[in-house]
Amino acid sequence: MTDNSPRTELSALGEFGLIERLASRIVPSHASTLKGIGDDAAVIDPQGLHQVITTDMLVEGVHFDLAYVPLKHLGYKSVVVNLSDVYAMNAEPRQVVVALGLSNRFPVEAVDELYEGLLMACRNYGVDLVGGDTTASRSGLVISITAIGVAKKEHIIYRSGAKDNDLLVVSGDLGGAYMGLQVLEREKAVFTQTGAQPDLAGHDYIIERQLKPEARKDIITLLKHLDVQPTAMIDVSDGLASEAMHIARSSGLGVRIYDDKLPIDPTTYRTARDFDLDPSTCALNGGEDYELLFTVAQADFEKIKGNPSLSVIGHMTDAASGYHLVDKHGGLHELRAQGWDAFLRKG
Ligand code: ADP
Ligand code: MG
Repeated sequence: MTDNSPRTELSALGEFGLIERLASRIVPSHASTLKGIGDDAAVIDPQGLHQVITTDMLVEGVHFDLAYVPLKHLGYKSVVVNLSDVYAMNAEPRQVVVALGLSNRFPVEAVDELYEGLLMACRNYGVDLVGGDTTASRSGLVISITAIGVAKKEHIIYRSGAKDNDLLVVSGDLGGAYMGLQVLEREKAVFTQTGAQPDLAGHDYIIERQLKPEARKDIITLLKHLDVQPTAMIDVSDGLASEAMHIARSSGLGVRIYDDKLPIDPTTYRTARDFDLDPSTCALNGGEDYELLFTVAQADFEKIKGNPSLSVIGHMTDAASGYHLVDKHGGLHELRAQGWDAFLRKG
């Protein structure tokens, strides 16, 4: 928001006024949503399917910085990161509930902007916003979203289902969101020190990866189309290395990832080099890519081979072989789950 945009204090509307204002913009569309906003609780008919439920909380100063994250993007992303978890179970998201902690720093217009993003993501992915909670906060903005999805019992994919020798496959490309964040942080520092306007030219792709990620609904559709049922799946929120190790550990296996198979976009690669970072390390540990990482039986190789959206990056091994990255010369390096640990980032 610009400094001269209108500002309506939250106190002028009050909690109930604010909720009414939000509710007036929301029309549930799923037959499974029997009651949305407006009662003590939403009512959902799972229609005989299994339900998956997941929550993600985003805290100002820990997960986002409003110096460079527009509220609309933040709203969009906070829905997307939840839907990504639902897709990672091979389920279809249907509903979300949104809990907000708002400090009085935020006017009604800011909440409107946030909801524009939230509702845009809901529209794009076909989910209903069916409720939430609104409370005051003394320390900035907190957004907690819970997503509810459904799947047939036999379609749900757990982290624990991988088998020895299964192929490890990832969608899209990796490390972009992390490099986007590096560019945004750099430009913020330059702005703070010199007042110079941010120079984001040539970095559109990675900045979009950071600010407006998408959940890979299309990959779930693609896998169905290819008639491939992964044996294990996880979404890449904390970095490839850490997610691959989650699958391995949950499945009682080891894992091997090949450095030269890592899918890295040229923009990510070039920017990493500019920052004196190793592109592979960014791809392995960057996080926030929201790609899907999954394992498939070797027999499915023919079905996924050469697909531009999928990269075979390694395979599962027995547990005793451990977790390794194989470099271009065949050397083994122990994988470390540096991850995207919220407790290690910033002070
Ligand atoms: P209660 O006091 O019983 O918890 P609330 O007054 O908090 O009820 O909420 C009233 C209705 O508005 C409920 O349906 C709730 O889910 C919905 N709601 C509250 N806050 C939000 C929000 N931030 N976004 C969407 N719906 C909300
Ligand atoms: Mg409540």
